[in-house]
Amino acid sequence: MIKRREFIEKAGLGAAAISLAGLPGCSGSENKISERPVGHRVIDAHIHITPEKVKKALQVMDDNLIKYGVVIASLTGKGDDLYMGDKAFYELAEAFKPYRNRLGLHYTYDWDLAASDPEFFTRAPDMLEKAVNAGAIALKNLKQLGLTAKDREGKLIAIDDPRLFPIWERAGKLGIPVAFHTGDPVAFFRKWEPANERWEELELHPEWSFADRSKYPPLETLFEQVNNVYRKFPDVQFVGVHIAGYSENIKAVAGWLDEFPNLMVDTAARIGELGKHPSDEGYEFFTKYQDRIMFGTDLAYWSECDVQGAGPCRNFTPEEHRKFYEIHWRYLQTSDKQFDHPTPIQGKWKIDGIGISEAALKKIYWDNAVRFYKLDRFGVV
Ligand SMILES: [Zn+2]
Repeated sequence: MIKRREFIEKAGLGAAAISLAGLPGCSGSENKISERPVGHRVIDAHIHITPEKVKKALQVMDDNLIKYGVVIASLTGKGDDLYMGDKAFYELAEAFKPYRNRLGLHYTYDWDLAASDPEFFTRAPDMLEKAVNAGAIALKNLKQLGLTAKDREGKLIAIDDPRLFPIWERAGKLGIPVAFHTGDPVAFFRKWEPANERWEELELHPEWSFADRSKYPPLETLFEQVNNVYRKFPDVQFVGVHIAGYSENIKAVAGWLDEFPNLMVDTAARIGELGKHPSDEGYEFFTKYQDRIMFGTDLAYWSECDVQGAGPCRNFTPEEHRKFYEIHWRYLQTSDKQFDHPTPIQGKWKIDGIGISEAALKKIYWDNAVRFYKLDRFGVV
């Protein structure tokens, strides 16, 4: 059992998984959308749902033409009793069973086992295989790997630790993709001082800071480690969630996509950061890599409240969720200028739409996820 506060650090969700700080939501009146640029069927390749919220999630999906949702981690529980790993996976797998053509589930390790279970590294590949036989469509590694997860000697486990190689090999044999959440926003790894661009956010949530070099590796080290895995396992399909963890530097991400043909990225909880780049650079990135990007939001339906990618956890109405999705459509589908992004906790700047082509949209909204997760086997074609 883990405490709610600890869960924020451990769960590895977008930067700001659960916040009860009552920060403003994103239903601001500036977000008036004259033309609602809806009309595409969409796969949201990065959401979180707990069993109590399946009905609500499906309702919101229906309202927004989201035909399929990828539940990207095995995380569930209520109140202070939040958990991941096998217990969460099998509970969620059971809850999602009637919706195989609507919801797919990632298996997620509870990395605490690496410190407590002497057999963990030996058992891990079989744990994955068992989960795949029970319906897991992929493996998700939360951000603790490389950052906080420790072995029995109390040493941090590097993402490219050879003790993990049999896991990636098994994923390849099973034909399932592997997702990595690497690092967190750049600002969280920088010194916490007024010049830090997320000073206010870190002031509210000092536990999100990874600036202490005696405890945490630098972000660059985490990227090197995960890139070593992409390089060493060319036959495994990988997805770097949250724009491979580096939405602040899409040139670097472009370099990784060029170097690793087995790498995809998702957009989850990063439209705000993406929208900070000049819109022509965003347009070029999404156009050039239209076969490698999957649409995702990180919308989380936790047992007691919802989180829209990042920010406060509260019971958003279906209408508020519709507005949240609309900002995403607006960013990708229009050339509108200076509107609010979907995750206000990440900062108060405005973004410009990048208006990518219909052909690119179709791939990013639909085709890439169908191919990557082989969704045709569930009738999602
Ligand atoms: Zn997430």
